[in-house]
Amino acid sequence: MEVKQIKTRCLMFSQKIDDWDLNAYLIKGEKRNFIIDTGLGSEDFDFIKKFIDNRKKTIIINTHFHGDHIWGNTKKYPIIAHRLCRKLILENWDAMLSDNRQYVNGNVEKVLPDITFDSELYFEEDKIKLFYSPGHTIDSISVIDEIDKILFAGDNIGDNEEEIIPKLYCEKSTFLETLKIYEKLDFDTCVSGHNTVLKKDVIQKIMEKI
Ligand SMILES: [Zn+2]
Repeated sequence: MEVKQIKTRCLMFSQKIDDWDLNAYLIKGEKRNFIIDTGLGSEDFDFIKKFIDNRKKTIIINTHFHGDHIWGNTKKYPIIAHRLCRKLILENWDAMLSDNRQYVNGNVEKVLPDITFDSELYFEEDKIKLFYSPGHTIDSISVIDEIDKILFAGDNIGDNEEEIIPKLYCEKSTFLETLKIYEKLDFDTCVSGHNTVLKKDVIQKIMEKI
């Protein structure tokens, strides 16, 4: 796994799997460590874990229910996700694992999010906001770091720089509403589950292309 520092307090963990890339993130907040997505199993998570500041609380965030974002989930830390994410993990667990078992890295345990929300959740001391952003999937959430002005868009950005439009398991109109919310937010850097580090203008580009 490759580790890259983005701005002042965010680490990006990237790995190449066959012909696709997978990212997870760590935000070192004032009071808490936020791990955004947990990769393909315990090996991925244990790698990320080495970078956390153990004097602070740690929170895991699952951007959506897909296996490549939740298979590293552990009972060791609280896990936050959208209410529907918990439900979709339960419903899809067996199928996701049997269809994609070749990608598992280490052990995989069915650990469900224990803190769920509907519209948004704000960590005041850390200036970190989680909000509902359906599009790629109906349970997708995004995170904004108000200090570093980074949007973590989950899989709402396509998989690489040529393919900026994501796979949509929602109505296109739902995704467009989310893009409009993104446009109004104050950030300049946009990162996601599979693409590279992009600028805010990627949102406009997706709107033009879609
Ligand atoms: Zn996905």
